[in-house]
Amino acid sequence: MKRKAFHNAAGYKRVLWGLQAVFIALPAVLFLTGCAGNPGGRTEPYSETFFAMDTYMTFTIYGAKAEDSLKQAEDRIRELEGLWSVTDTKSDIYAVNHSGGKPVAVDGETEELLSFALEMAEETGGALEPTIYPVLAAWGFTTGENRVPDREEIEELLNRVDYTGVRWDGGSIVLEEGSMLDLGAVGKGYAGDQVIQLLKENGVTSALLDIGGNIQAVGAKPDGSSWRVGLKDPFSGGVLGVIQVADEAVVTSGSYERYFTGKDGKRYGHIIDPATGYPVDNGLASVSVIASEGKLCDALSTALFVMGLEDAERYWRQNQGFDMILVTVDEGIFVTEGVKDRFSLQSEYQDMTVNVIEK
Ligand code: AMP
Ligand code: MG
Repeated sequence: MKRKAFHNAAGYKRVLWGLQAVFIALPAVLFLTGCAGNPGGRTEPYSETFFAMDTYMTFTIYGAKAEDSLKQAEDRIRELEGLWSVTDTKSDIYAVNHSGGKPVAVDGETEELLSFALEMAEETGGALEPTIYPVLAAWGFTTGENRVPDREEIEELLNRVDYTGVRWDGGSIVLEEGSMLDLGAVGKGYAGDQVIQLLKENGVTSALLDIGGNIQAVGAKPDGSSWRVGLKDPFSGGVLGVIQVADEAVVTSGSYERYFTGKDGKRYGHIIDPATGYPVDNGLASVSVIASEGKLCDALSTALFVMGLEDAERYWRQNQGFDMILVTVDEGIFVTEGVKDRFSLQSEYQDMTVNVIEK
């Protein structure tokens, strides 16, 4: 295993552990500084925040068609939310989850997203598990009424979790009775890709989407410089470091985003290890994935978080096509070599060790 430190670790442990009790809601924060240039006659960006897909989204668009494009983008998100929501009784996913084993005809986009999720489930050895929903529900993450289920209950529910049991019948999905889909780990990234396509068709060349902490960029900033995307410290909510991106997505998964504390005093996060049915507890605090497509970043950030540091490194070496930044609960930051020169720690974190993962 080849790792190289390029910062000194002195003092890091004290700083980080002191802050660990404070968890935060969003994994990434944006730096929208400078708006030189004049694309399409507009020098200031047009920006709006709205709530969709169970999260806040902020879209920032430059150019003459910014305002119109933003409205269309929001409509597009709501359209996809209408297809994939697990709670909306009119959605495709709701219909499939309540089909009692009968085939359900779904929209082409649902078919596409599910095919992608199943492909990534296969690629990641089941770390991404699109049928995890019954277990997630038992932990109360779907209702907010969190509880720690007993082991037998989890074992029993795990019998209903198996992505290889999802079948196609023409354009219809067939799910075994008791099995349920949850595409929450990939849907926002896929939706981001769809919005980017829409913006590009509208001639937008510079925009930044914050989709509940998933960051997706169209082009660079209007002055041609890269976007500066802040990665949040999963422990304190501060900004740990900055990554520079253009025409790429940065998607972070971590238990700190959504978790509860059990009566046993333990923290339980919303990402479930499908091998055990328990929330991931493998020493990782967050995984950020950087690549051109949002859907790949989204699928991988969840799956690599389930895999843990060593398997994530192995996966990266074998697959390529993306970069990643992993933060461990003890004190490590691990970055793949493709991002090492465009990731920098904020001044308060300069003492932390950044380990570079090489091929
Ligand atoms: P993300 O924030 O993209 O990492 O997705 C996390 C969400 O995906 C959770 O809130 C669950 O709805 C769902 N989920 C949890 N564990 C898994 C898993 N192992 N595979 C697929 N989806 C999961
Ligand atoms: Mg994800």
